[in-house]
Amino acid sequence: MFTRRQFLKVLSLGGFFSFSNVELSFAKKYIPYVKRIRYSSSSKRTRIVFDLSGKVYKKYISNYMKHNYLVFVVKGLRTDRKKVYFRSKYAKYVEVIPLTSTKTKIRIKLDSPRSYKIFALKSRGKKSFRLVIDVFPDFMPLKLKTELGKRVVVLDPGHGGKDPGAIWPIHWRHPKYKEKNITLGIAKKVKKLLEKDSRISVIMTRERDVFVPLLKRAEIAAKSCADAFVSIHADSMPNHPRWRGVTVFKASPTLFAKATNTAEAIAKNVKICSDTMCWSITPVIVSLSSTVTFVESRKLAESIVKRLKANDNENIVKGIKDMKRNILVIKTPGRPAVLVETGFMTNRYDRKNLLKSSYQWKIAKGIAQGIKEYLRSLDKVAMY
Ligand SMILES: [Zn+2]
Repeated sequence: MFTRRQFLKVLSLGGFFSFSNVELSFAKKYIPYVKRIRYSSSSKRTRIVFDLSGKVYKKYISNYMKHNYLVFVVKGLRTDRKKVYFRSKYAKYVEVIPLTSTKTKIRIKLDSPRSYKIFALKSRGKKSFRLVIDVFPDFMPLKLKTELGKRVVVLDPGHGGKDPGAIWPIHWRHPKYKEKNITLGIAKKVKKLLEKDSRISVIMTRERDVFVPLLKRAEIAAKSCADAFVSIHADSMPNHPRWRGVTVFKASPTLFAKATNTAEAIAKNVKICSDTMCWSITPVIVSLSSTVTFVESRKLAESIVKRLKANDNENIVKGIKDMKRNILVIKTPGRPAVLVETGFMTNRYDRKNLLKSSYQWKIAKGIAQGIKEYLRSLDKVAMY
């Protein structure tokens, strides 16, 4: 006879074993079951609450989205077949299905892929242990879904659409050169280079000449659970036409402190990492992860600068600076993020370079190699 802990360990090993009568009665005694399903629905979310007779563990839950079904498989939980229909515009019903005497499938029918969050609540007083799934009305682009085990890099080509970014000549009504085109050109090259590695999945905040608001960019970084977020820009300094060079900016704690509401605003509006298992994201966790972000962002910046310097024969790679301007994209909570200024549009040498495909490839190579080096460092240490 084994203890509950041993029993769960067997489950965790993925052990698919047939149960003897003794073991079945053991399951009945120790494996929690679904007592009741409740839900509430508002314009903001549909909340499904499973009242359980005992605790389930995050590590025994796997999930996936198939067609319009959001599916969770929970080991160490038993149930009878139950189905509850919702009065909701986007969620149709939830069903719990016994897979074995110790394994339960939760299936939620939606009208289209939606973002969601799953978390648990401890038993308190008369309330039993609860598993809660929130489904939000916002659409989850399938593109944001990435394969398990892959490192995710979000590339953010600055500006786009109605926002040209830096321009040249600066007083022309219809300037010949626009930053938005250069940033997209470089980002696409970085993407190509990174995707040669099958373990890396790349998401772009824009792939065309479209305007993407800053908050949307931060949202993409947060939702995709990016391991690295790299924003690509080109500088402009009309009063200092001799200024040139490449600089990698990272967020600084002081800047972050000034932007107190950003992390919370994002946490509130964005369901962080909605496509993977997110146990619970609270403002506390968000503020914790911002501290991690500074350290990780510095590491990412250092790797990129190192690789850019290795390809630099004009001595134009300046190094790392703290972000002074209020740039939202790199304040994304929990995502190591940097901003690369790839040169000055107002400097004639840099400008000539930036317009050349060969130079764009050179910069892209440095950025891609730096990102890869940073990702490798993640494999070596335990992630937070
Ligand atoms: Zn810019």
